[in-house]
Amino acid sequence: MNRRDFLKSTLSLAAFASVARFARADDAPAQGTAADAAGTPQVTRRPYRGTDVTIPLLGFGLMRLPGKNGRLDYDTIDKMFDKALAAGINYFDTAYVYIGGNSERCVGDLLAKRPRESYYLATKLPLRHVNSQADAERIFNEQLERTKAGYFDFYLLHNIGWRDWQKSKNLQVVEFLERKKAEGVIKRLGFSCHDSTGNLKRIIDDYTWDFCQIQLNVQDWEAGDAKTRYDILAEANVPAIIMEPLRGGALASYGEEGDRILRNVSPDASPASWSFRFVGSLPNVLVALSGMNRMDHLEENIRTFSPLVPLTESEQRVLRTAFAASQKKLSIPCTGCRYCVPCPVGVQIPDVFARANEYHRSGDADAFRKAVEDLAKTGGVAADCVSCGACLPKCPQHIAIPDEMKKIATLVKG
Ligand code: SF4
Ligand code: SF4
Repeated sequence: MNRRDFLKSTLSLAAFASVARFARADDAPAQGTAADAAGTPQVTRRPYRGTDVTIPLLGFGLMRLPGKNGRLDYDTIDKMFDKALAAGINYFDTAYVYIGGNSERCVGDLLAKRPRESYYLATKLPLRHVNSQADAERIFNEQLERTKAGYFDFYLLHNIGWRDWQKSKNLQVVEFLERKKAEGVIKRLGFSCHDSTGNLKRIIDDYTWDFCQIQLNVQDWEAGDAKTRYDILAEANVPAIIMEPLRGGALASYGEEGDRILRNVSPDASPASWSFRFVGSLPNVLVALSGMNRMDHLEENIRTFSPLVPLTESEQRVLRTAFAASQKKLSIPCTGCRYCVPCPVGVQIPDVFARANEYHRSGDADAFRKAVEDLAKTGGVAADCVSCGACLPKCPQHIAIPDEMKKIATLVKG
């Protein structure tokens, strides 16, 4: 274990002030330490590929950072970084395209004030913006400049499918990234993927990957093929980094009936904590990312993960029942990732879907109409969709966006 990895595995920002102790690699993978010597709760950590480098099971996703007056709210974010690091959450996940580049800039402005050894940084190369090896190099250098990180602990090809993977090989982007890895500027190379399960397997089999980021949550496990995807990674011994464990917030509640089922079993546990425990119970999961933009969400997540207690078999059954109850009320599987915007006529796609889903949950038609009226003040709503289809190929959830917009427009009129 080199010095950097040792420091990352044993230090948080709080450690510099209060001798905090992170879990060591020989701690039980699914348990970790619940508190450091000073009594600060510490999230469960897992060893990276059987080494003594340990990574927190809860990672801080920087895709939906809090804002104020049209800008990122640096005061709040800085306090959240402090709180996260003190709890051992020292894995931060950003990307070139997040928040128009401001997510990476925020890393450079706030996280980079901390000792570099105290955090792991993951960022991603947007192949959509890459048409040559020189493009990849330019973007990579821009990312280093924005984040002031010096090196990336985890570097991903962002949201690639089989065709993108062929493109990155044809353009010799892979050779460039391998060079960066040899230089130590990339520590681990992986990719995130929303392509078909078959193509995920082809990409996994085609290269020696250090890790892979997939979408996994109760819904995609029960109603999609997240289990098969997870198994592909586990069989290939590729650690899984999980995005959307709450499916963009949808799994923070299982509806009235589903939540009641969960509270009957654990009155004090939030539905979101069940969703996280589901993901954290899987042994090949290295990190579950949460795009935390509120201090109370961060605090609740720290409680859930300090330590992460895997679901028992009977709890798994309860969660399945709650999920089945939630599916009686249909909702649109939008995660709020915002890849589909901007829409050429200004439809605020994820905002429209969020309001429609709230209506599906609450059944309050008046509140829904009022919410749509308010939304219309800031841009286009469902009725403005001209079915151009420009958003369709951008949606990783494969939502039939124009069809949904038509249905929602009818709801408002009805
Ligand atoms: S199909 Fe509708 S929502 Fe999608 S880009 Fe076109 S106008 Fe916008
Ligand atoms: S509609 Fe699709 S692309 Fe747009 S925010 Fe929702 S999940 Fe993301």
